[in-house]
Amino acid sequence: MAAESQKETLGFQAEVQHLLKLMIHSLYSNKEIFLRELISNASDAADKLRFEGLSDDALYEGETDLAIKVSFDQEARTITVSDNGIGMSRNEVIENIGTIAKSGTREFFQSLTGDQAKDAHLIGQFGVGFYSAFIVADKVTLVTRRAGLAPEHGVRWESGGEGDYTLETVSKATRGTDVVLHLREGEDELVNDWRLKSIIRKYSDHITLPIKMKAEGKDDEETVNQASALWARPKSEISAEQYHEFYKHVAHDFEPPLAFVHAKVEGKQDYTQLLYVPSRAPFDLWDREHRHGVKLYVRRVFIMDDAEQLLPSYLRFVRGVIDSNDLPLNVSREILQHSKDIDALRAGSVKKVLGMLEDLAEKEPEKYKTFWREFGRVLKEGVGEDFANRERIAKLLRFASTQADVEEEDVGLADYVGRMKEGQEKIYYVSADSFAAAKHSPHLEIFRKKGIEVLLLHDRVDEWLVSHLTEFEGKTLQSVAKGELDLGSLEDAQEKSEQQQEADEFKDLVSKVKEALGDRVKEVRITHRLTSSPACLVVEQHEMGANLERMLKAAGQPVSATKPILEINPHHPIVARIKAEEGASRFSDWSHLLFDQALLSEGGQLEDPAGFVARLNGLMLALASA
Ligand code: ADP
Ligand code: MG
Repeated sequence: MAAESQKETLGFQAEVQHLLKLMIHSLYSNKEIFLRELISNASDAADKLRFEGLSDDALYEGETDLAIKVSFDQEARTITVSDNGIGMSRNEVIENIGTIAKSGTREFFQSLTGDQAKDAHLIGQFGVGFYSAFIVADKVTLVTRRAGLAPEHGVRWESGGEGDYTLETVSKATRGTDVVLHLREGEDELVNDWRLKSIIRKYSDHITLPIKMKAEGKDDEETVNQASALWARPKSEISAEQYHEFYKHVAHDFEPPLAFVHAKVEGKQDYTQLLYVPSRAPFDLWDREHRHGVKLYVRRVFIMDDAEQLLPSYLRFVRGVIDSNDLPLNVSREILQHSKDIDALRAGSVKKVLGMLEDLAEKEPEKYKTFWREFGRVLKEGVGEDFANRERIAKLLRFASTQADVEEEDVGLADYVGRMKEGQEKIYYVSADSFAAAKHSPHLEIFRKKGIEVLLLHDRVDEWLVSHLTEFEGKTLQSVAKGELDLGSLEDAQEKSEQQQEADEFKDLVSKVKEALGDRVKEVRITHRLTSSPACLVVEQHEMGANLERMLKAAGQPVSATKPILEINPHHPIVARIKAEEGASRFSDWSHLLFDQALLSEGGQLEDPAGFVARLNGLMLALASA
């Protein structure tokens, strides 16, 4: 204890130093936000105290009136933000204030360009919270004590925002945290009653706790903000700006949300939802462990952060609050896991979010595009996870297609169905591991020729998606690389009889190629799905597609290899040539080359690349000497 009470100097984590420098420059034009961030932290600290206080009353130390105080000292040129929330222990100060624990921090720093304007935007997205104090202060002193610890376990942290900070054990009579900002030269205009109050009203009005300041010219305090739960107020009394500021607080985001929905549900269950979709995916979207999700309140009382039972994992990008009138105040995570009330609440919230997305897709397509770009891949998980809402989620999906032939995913299944050709019964798709591979797939040739739209699936999860989404509005989803091509009534009788004729005509060739390829193929047959390629590979309707097989293999999963079917194009000059020389000594090489190029063109990998090269070289030599 004695050693700890001595003043020690510690270095900031390298990232913190970097961030501090950047932030001071890039956020200066918006410097008022420092107060919003400090108040937001004070409010979070009160929420944490309430949560821990549910199971340990003693933490309140007899003081249950939670509040935030803002004060200033004109002479000393300081502004102080105080709270009586949870406070921090010495170790917590080191962890929370000396380092950035956010996941994705490394990626964030890698994405910085060095260009101030661009980086300013990124910084806003990353969120700098506490450090924003250094925009206006050249020294920050934080004195804190963790609730439940004795007064002598207070901690004093101080830093000039350069490379290091000092830490000292001090005595602090009350729990909670005081943050004192020693203003930079030239920031005196902030040390002003009217100015501070207007900043608080602008950014922090929605904070549920009272934010108190000394009334001008008097000794007593007044509450500056409305200090009532924003979501409990009537919609008509909440401005767009207030909705946005509230979002920034709950989501720890610096940018406004893309969309939100605010609804009161009454009936069997009574609850209020205020749910937001962010404008941008957070850095840790794919890290299922780390997230600020939806906060749960019961009758306006904060219960817990990130209550994952309130929304399914495929909606983990949603932020906001749900306030229940029915749950008990002492509800715990364990209770939530088995509560029927929660199931109903969750189902209702999913419906609201899907409804909000449907609205966005219909009324604000540009915003929906942004949504899809940022969160589409997460939403896709819902097709497999949420059976009850599958059809609704399916409607929200967007894909690239041969209609526009661009990489942007902009085609909904309903758009596709609306454009289907007369006589077309299926929704066709091709899947590959890149957009280019999908777009250039030989399997598309006949579809392009006949003007039939095909969805171009090129996202890794799409294979998984189509394994769950086998039909949409009664129309089967059909891979163009599976089974016999059956275009149904999209082909006329004449085409069909021609195909039959050709099958007979090429019978000998087909069996010779099969003989030459032996085990490499399951079957060889004539096809009419090709117009410009000589050959392609397909698998049986019920078998795993080649793209999926490659993905599983790459992920180290055991897969029993399915043997493909080689289909050859009877109209292609190379095929005609081979047919004319069935007896040639190179016939076997030609057969293998046909197979290998079909494999390559769909994005596959050769089993024997050297063999392929040797055959190709043989062919080139023969050409050169002819
Ligand atoms: P964020 O609020 O997004 O977590 P901040 O930079 O604003 O990021 O704060 C970092 C951390 O410091 C918080 O998560 C919290 O643990 C701690 N902290 C900051 N201010 C306070 C406070 N007033 N009381 C208790 N803990 C605080
Ligand atoms: Mg914060």
